[in-house]
Amino acid sequence: MILQRDYDLSAHNTFRMKVKCACYVEYSSVEELAGLDWDSLPRPVKHIGEGSNLLFTKDFPGTILHSGIRYVKYFDVGLDEVPVAVGAGVRWDDLVAQLCGHGLWGAENLSHIPGEVGAAAVQNIGAYGVEIKDIISGVTCFDLVERKSCKFTVAECRYGYRESMFKESGDRYVITSVLLRVSRKPRPRLEYKGLAGVDASSPSSVRDAVVEIRKGKLPEPSELGSAGSFFKNPVISAADFVRVCDAAPGVTVPHFVLDGGMIKVPAAWLIDQCGFKGEREGGAAVYKKQPLVIVNASGSASPQDVLELERRIVATVHERFGVALHPEVEHL
Ligand SMILES: Cc1cc2nc3c(=O)[nH]c(=O)nc-3n(C[C@H](O)[C@H](O)[C@H](O)COP(=O)(O)OP(=O)(O)OC[C@H]3O[C@@H](n4cnc5c(N)ncnc54)[C@H](O)[C@@H]3O)c2cc1C
Repeated sequence: MILQRDYDLSAHNTFRMKVKCACYVEYSSVEELAGLDWDSLPRPVKHIGEGSNLLFTKDFPGTILHSGIRYVKYFDVGLDEVPVAVGAGVRWDDLVAQLCGHGLWGAENLSHIPGEVGAAAVQNIGAYGVEIKDIISGVTCFDLVERKSCKFTVAECRYGYRESMFKESGDRYVITSVLLRVSRKPRPRLEYKGLAGVDASSPSSVRDAVVEIRKGKLPEPSELGSAGSFFKNPVISAADFVRVCDAAPGVTVPHFVLDGGMIKVPAAWLIDQCGFKGEREGGAAVYKKQPLVIVNASGSASPQDVLELERRIVATVHERFGVALHPEVEHL
């Protein structure tokens, strides 16, 4: 176990914000986690993974927990469906590479998403028409209120678009492992338009295609700091959609009609229409290839640079289109 005070978090957030926490704890088993002297830890307590969906807006006054539980256990009894139990601290993309290497289907569309397995199950990560909930059977947690382990079925996790019961619970549950079910039988999911025509002869060939596409669109966390998509795609009423169309005369507004008649409009399109592609604020900038992403362009952007750019984008999109943008990235 690692327990350090006044700890530098620069290497623990993909935005590369230079911030500290009062206390940092990395544990390597459920027993170590349960055995912590909880009452002595500075509050609040926040669990992180790779910090790839977080913006630290200043030094964190409490305790940052991080999982070092890293195992992958296959329960292969010769059936088509293979249960796999994975420790929460395993890097998600290492796991996907391993599953694809074993010829197991289900996670390949979620290739190259940064972060760890525990957080993936909190976030219900998704890409190319697949969400992790599609391959989760259950989740094991440590309950910080009751201070004991507990289990949830996938139904009890109440997954939605980047939503889950874990997010609603206000950091009550630390995920310690996730039970996945992947398939030996081919089941390529190529409905998403970007994947049409890719070689689906194996999960690895689909993975290779996904990685290639993603590399062309999104910044590599090792090269350029960011937290991926900064804003959620707004879901608006038909009346508000008409207002958006009126504000963009002569242009076809991209949109997706949801069950119930609400309309999802790509936040990237709204931001782009407001001329923000490549826009800078101090060391932060809107990513040129994908305006939904704010990057640490200088490598030394401050949280204030990012927050000011966020504020300007939200205000301008609202002024022009009457649409409120909300961050997908969690602000701490
Ligand atoms: C370049 C880039 C591309 C991305 N592309 C995608 C994409 O295609 N699809 C997508 O869905 N996301 C994407 N993301 C967002 C991000 O990778 C995911 O949200 C990821 O699951 C976050 O994992 P993390 O380990 O970094 O978690 P963190 O950012 O550290 O934490 C995220 C949340 O999970 C909680 N948490 C972390 N670990 C645990 C645990 N063990 N128990 C309980 N709570 C925990 C944290 O408290 C926090 O609320 C992208 C990010 C980047 C930087």
